[in-house]
Amino acid sequence: DAKIRLEEVEKRYLGTKTPAVASLSLEVKEGEILVLVGPSGCGKSTTLRLINRMIEPTGGRIILDDEDVTKVNPDALRRRIGYVIQQIGLFPHQTIAQNIATVPKMLGWDKARIGERVDELLSVVGLDPETYRDRYPKELSGGQAQRVGVARALGADPEIMLMDEPFGAIDPITRDRLQNEFLRVQETLRKTIVFVTHDVDEAIKMGDRIAILGDQSHIRQIDTPERILAF
Ligand code: ADP
Ligand code: ADP
Repeated sequence: DAKIRLEEVEKRYLGTKTPAVASLSLEVKEGEILVLVGPSGCGKSTTLRLINRMIEPTGGRIILDDEDVTKVNPDALRRRIGYVIQQIGLFPHQTIAQNIATVPKMLGWDKARIGERVDELLSVVGLDPETYRDRYPKELSGGQAQRVGVARALGADPEIMLMDEPFGAIDPITRDRLQNEFLRVQETLRKTIVFVTHDVDEAIKMGDRIAILGDQSHIRQIDTPERILAF
């Protein structure tokens, strides 16, 4: 039931002495939220970018559903993996609807299907479609923009979501609300999620399992929040 499997994955950036990620092995089970928590610079973002092939590993293998990711065609990979980062970078000259439609458009969906999907996704992330679909990113608050980022990542109903401090730049009260809403949505979506944070409280709240990472993404502990707290 492993959806994602990392086998002794290594990433050395060009011109650096020590690897950002050294021999990382782990499994993400279908439908779970696995949280990677650890200090800044320990290789969390690198690990996510390796999984969706924004960057290539210098060693080891990454397997999705028993298939080496290098064998999956890039379009399929973009459909299957949603990616949310802290600075979501909505396209400023596109409306919210156009932003959310990025991947479906790329996949050649027809207009009607895209329109329906955009409205559906706005509702999923708690934004009224009528009110928001034709607005521009600069008209949104930070929390609203982050909701749109999540909607855009869910665009073509990916099996996997990679979330890199998705609520990191948001005030604590809004963050708490977004976390709760996201957990509620996840109860029905059942995506396989790798969620990166450096905030231990967020890790405990969001994770079905938590991997506590040290330097070079060395796994110090990986377990359920309950068992980590009991330790
Ligand atoms: P984290 O997400 O845990 O903060 P990162 O994966 O961003 O860690 O970074 C891990 C290490 O790799 C850090 O030392 C960082 O400086 C380095 N690093 C990240 N991206 C690059 C890059 N594009 N080129 C060179 N070094 C990088
Ligand atoms: P965070 O700490 O929030 O994970 P990072 O500082 O790791 O963010 O990454 C921000 C951006 O800077 C990324 O696109 C990453 O690839 C790049 N980056 C990080 N460290 C380095 C580095 N040492 N050299 C070059 N680019 C880097």
